[in-house]
Amino acid sequence: MVDLNQNVQYVKTVGPTKVKYLNNLNIYTLGDLLTYFPREYEDRSNIKPIASIQVGEEATIEARVVSEVSINRIRKNMVILKTIVEDNTGRCMLTWFNQTYIKLRIKRGETYRFFGKLTKEVNHFEMHNPVFDEIGKERNTGKIMPIYPTTYGLSQSAIRVAVENALASIKGEIKETLPEYLLKEYNLSGIENSLNEIHFPTSKDKRLEARKRLVFEELLTMQLTLLELKGKNEEHTGISFNKNVKMSDVINSLPFKLTKAQLKVLEEIDNDMEKNKQMNRLLQGDVGSGKTVVAMISAYKAVKSGYQVAIMAPTAILAVQHFEEFKKILEPFEIKIELLLGSTKPKKRKEILADLASGKIDILIGTHALLTENVLFNKLGLVVTDEQHRFGVKQRETIIAKGLNPDVLVMTATPIPRTLALILYGDLDISIIDELPPNRKKIETYAVTKRMEQRVNEFVRKNINEGRQAYVVCPLVEEKEDDEDKNADLKAVKKWTQIYQDEIFPEYKVACIYGKMKQKEKDEVMENFKNGKINILISTTVIEVGVNVPNASIMIVENADRFGLAQLHQLRGRVGRGEYQSYCILKYNSNSGEIGKERMKTMQETNDGFVIAEKDLELRGTGEFFGTRQHGLPEFKIANLFVDMPMLKSVQSVALKIEAEDSGLKLEKNKELRELVNKKLKQSISL
Ligand code: ADP
Ligand code: MG
Repeated sequence: MVDLNQNVQYVKTVGPTKVKYLNNLNIYTLGDLLTYFPREYEDRSNIKPIASIQVGEEATIEARVVSEVSINRIRKNMVILKTIVEDNTGRCMLTWFNQTYIKLRIKRGETYRFFGKLTKEVNHFEMHNPVFDEIGKERNTGKIMPIYPTTYGLSQSAIRVAVENALASIKGEIKETLPEYLLKEYNLSGIENSLNEIHFPTSKDKRLEARKRLVFEELLTMQLTLLELKGKNEEHTGISFNKNVKMSDVINSLPFKLTKAQLKVLEEIDNDMEKNKQMNRLLQGDVGSGKTVVAMISAYKAVKSGYQVAIMAPTAILAVQHFEEFKKILEPFEIKIELLLGSTKPKKRKEILADLASGKIDILIGTHALLTENVLFNKLGLVVTDEQHRFGVKQRETIIAKGLNPDVLVMTATPIPRTLALILYGDLDISIIDELPPNRKKIETYAVTKRMEQRVNEFVRKNINEGRQAYVVCPLVEEKEDDEDKNADLKAVKKWTQIYQDEIFPEYKVACIYGKMKQKEKDEVMENFKNGKINILISTTVIEVGVNVPNASIMIVENADRFGLAQLHQLRGRVGRGEYQSYCILKYNSNSGEIGKERMKTMQETNDGFVIAEKDLELRGTGEFFGTRQHGLPEFKIANLFVDMPMLKSVQSVALKIEAEDSGLKLEKNKELRELVNKKLKQSISL
């Protein structure tokens, strides 16, 4: 049997140079390569008569070459080769750019198969850069071709050939990864066949059959892993917090009345906290639904029962904000709260660490800085992570390990459809705040193009003159954070700040904030925005999560079509947090793609995070990965949560059945499953 964990470098044609590029695609082992699934397929199997092909259609033709291949050098680096081919139904011109070897390969009078996209020129049809085969030696045509996501330095065909060789190397040598009885019961095809068919399908049906099996395996592995994690959690005895500490003491001191949903959620948390079992609860609530105050009240319960609390937020801006809000509400109860950031000065830091270890500090709020080894608690009883999708499993575990089975509350505004949440967060109990505080006005959203710029600016001016404030969010220059230009963010922000300050609103105070700014400067800017000294705040998406300035009523997003729906919804959630009518203005490019436009439409139509989440899943469609960071969803290699929802549901019941019969997967017949889960556990721990 082959070892799927062997380095991908040993696959024929790969070698040391290609390895580097494959690593960029997260392909390290033979197994990784075999499970690097095609993004889509190109059907080159049907040969079509030239006359029957629609303009714009990709098709394979079988045609005779009726002219010599001509070569024209039109510029220094540009050579064009042309020839004419025909079949019984029509003629077509073929054009290649810079591929002079074609001249040697294609002979007048011979017949070949060509595959390419048909275009219409003034008075003839044309194919650009078609791939071709000699008849009887088909490599590039006549079959369904996989299309892989590629990366710089790796061509489509390099990946294809590597996969081909990988498949050849496992022929008859790969161990089945699912138990025999499951394959039979659910009518699934074997692993070797499935891998072959998913990469190089012999027909569409065969491909779908292969996909079904691979999706089944991936989802089942996830479900069994979650069940196991959940089982482990339940074994833990935890702290039972003091029944005589009443959450209502804080609730009654608040300047507002809690919503029914907040009260219900607090009751669930209160119950969990009093039980001598470790709480593992996910608190979901749309942006602005008031999760922070729930965390505060839970923290109160823990502190007054004699324990310490850790609150971890993904950005310093958010941690600072929490720190201030917690102090406002909880200091009157003589609770000592401190803030620890990466930028905290050594002297202050030392002081905090000492007070934390001695138990003088009751609540420590901070960023990833809390994870550092020498942050030691005296008696950590409750861990709260805000915007949990920004943290990895590992980080959550690190902070939890600083206490002795502390209760855990993870909060997220990432709206995941409830059915999905129940399945995906199988290891957590779920509370949902499904109601916004009263008197919130619906945020009005407008998607506008360049044409509307003038009106938008006047509108902003009117609102600022009435005392409101505005955010402007600009996108990264590149989609990905590119190492090449570490300051790309900064440049973008600076550019927009200049435009807004000098050209559009010279009469107002415009300032900017971005991720890499010094903490002290960030604090200053946020402070001045909060107290109204800054009218317009230009920002990258660092303000995406959690920031709360109720007087800000306008959110402008530049190049909005470049953002995902979930992210736009988060950004919109920065306004509409106070009593004022708020607006979200999404500036987009009128020639942005269909998906971009569809997103704009969705944003205008609804404010409901859950509806938006469903739409987001739908628009991402088949084949595309979900960004884990944006969604808080696990990443899959082949499953697609939108398309495969029915499969997920049935797999869930399969998993429950297996778990009921063989908890721990110790039976011989489940040994393959045991292996899959072990592998998954190892991956999720090393995230
Ligand atoms: P999120 O759930 O997005 O984290 P926050 O906790 O930041 O929301 O709350 C948003 C705003 O709503 C804050 O200013 C908070 O003080 C306020 N708020 C929370 N609960 C209520 C309530 N029940 N009534 C009125 N305002 C509330
Ligand atoms: Mg929040």
